[in-house]
Order: sequence, then structure tokens, then C-alpha cells
Amino acid sequence: MSNDSASFEVRTEPGVQIKWVVTVSDRPAGADETVTTKRLVESLHEVERSIEKTLCDRGRISRTVYRANSRDVHFADGSVIEWNWQPTTFDWRCLDCGVDTDAIDEYYMVHDQVWLQAAPDGKGQLCIGCLEARLGRTLSATDFTDAEVNNPGLGARSVRLVDRLNRTE
Ligand SMILES: [Zn+2]
Repeated sequence: MSNDSASFEVRTEPGVQIKWVVTVSDRPAGADETVTTKRLVESLHEVERSIEKTLCDRGRISRTVYRANSRDVHFADGSVIEWNWQPTTFDWRCLDCGVDTDAIDEYYMVHDQVWLQAAPDGKGQLCIGCLEARLGRTLSATDFTDAEVNNPGLGARSVRLVDRLNRTE
């Protein structure tokens, strides 16, 4: 059997990431209900690994259905697990200068009224420099929400983002 029609490759611009939303529906033998879980994984390789791991833990397989974006595995005991994966795009590029805001460590959350003043359609990412250029002022601590991404102890941050998060006037 040729698999050529099912093969594809994902290529992205710097600053654009593809991740995969994996939905797993598990109906154990004799159960009336299907348990559905969703999670985000980094690559198709990781999807395959998670399927492999689950298969090792379950009993004998009676039938497997392969599709481009899903897999159904029927086990000898009557249980069924279905995996489905869909790509989702994360575009970290600054709307104005195009810099990869993730790569320069400028991932942050400002209050809606601040963001909507700069980006009325609410979409996209801006680096600190371009957000300030749109606002016509320097950001300070009160512009940022108390979202976890702004937590001072978390992850790497650009020098200017750290400065703005701590600026009191
Ligand atoms: Zn920018």
C-alpha cells in the first residue's frame, strides 16, 4: 500500500509555530460512556509517541483504522480508542516590524483597553517597541495584567520588558 497521498510536511516562517490539538476518545470495554480529553502537543512525532505509549499499556489490538488526521484502535476486549489531531497556528511575529516576539522574549499580557487602543481588531502580537510606538508612550507596570505570563519569576524576558513590568510612573 502506498502512503504517498497521506504524507505532508509543515513548513513555517520564523515566528510562526504549528502545534497540534489532539483529541483522544476512550471507550473502555463494557462502558457506556466515552471519555474525551484534549491536549496540545508540539509535533506529529509527539502524537505518535503518545499513541505508542497508550498502546503498550492496553491489551491486544484487533483492528486499527488509519486516516490522515486520526487513528481508531479497536482492542480485543471490545474497547476502542480514537485519536484525532488538528494543526493550530501560533503566529508570534510583531504586526509592525515582523520580529519573532517569542524569540526576543517579549510575551506579555496588557489590559484589554491598552491593547485595543493599539490594535483595535484585538488580534496579533506586537513587540514592546512597536506597541509603545502605537500608543505614543512608554508602558509601565499598571498596563500589564496579573496573568501568569507577566509573573516576574517566570521564564526569560527582554531587558525592556523587565523594565516596563517594574516601571511605576
Ligand atoms: Zn515590533
